[in-house]
Amino acid sequence: MKKSKLRFLIAYGPTQEPLDAVRFLTNRSTGVMGRCLIAAAKKRKQDVIAVECPTDARTALDLKAKLEKLVVKADVLIMAAAVADVRPKHVASGKIKKDRLTTIKLVKNPDILASLAKKKKNKIFVGFGIESENLKQNGLKKLRSKKLDLIVIQEVREGNLPFGERSVQALILTPEGDSYRFASASKQELADYIVQQSIARASLC
Ligand code: C5P
Repeated sequence: MKKSKLRFLIAYGPTQEPLDAVRFLTNRSTGVMGRCLIAAAKKRKQDVIAVECPTDARTALDLKAKLEKLVVKADVLIMAAAVADVRPKHVASGKIKKDRLTTIKLVKNPDILASLAKKKKNKIFVGFGIESENLKQNGLKKLRSKKLDLIVIQEVREGNLPFGERSVQALILTPEGDSYRFASASKQELADYIVQQSIARASLC
């Protein structure tokens, strides 16, 4: 792909999965990584389409529908969204009375990256993962199952959670089995590296 300017589609932030009119399930993602990725791509004069959860796409299903439309226009998809693994099976239109809130039935959300893989031709897909053990083995498994070109595995140990502005430990893996370890990096440093690697891999497509 010999383009001087690539179009980056960057999805980030936490999805929200409603239970009723006032309650939802979500996770601790802050969106900092996504904002660093946007800054990194813009610094390199690339085009960026940003999809921030939950503002631009609230639920996993909203995000899937949005990305299915947008991915066709993109050269690089960076999927930094923290997609909720499950959602409440039933969503009440009003507020559920608290004495009826004893059990919540959940259903699995689809794996968005894996489902977008069929639209992937000549595009670079980058995913993220959080692991606390066997980083390389688990990361490569995820990279292959989602057909990614790069995966960024952030290491989580007790008391060391990768949320917000703090520095992170990360392992970046490629399908060829190459790895690059960041022992302690700011999210901006990590984002700069991811964008640089994406551009390099896109030039080989
Ligand atoms: O399997 P796991 O949730 O650890 O994978 C994380 C990667 O997959 C992230 O890039 C995330 O944005 C993406 N993902 C997805 N659809 C899901 C769950 C995660 O695309 N339902």
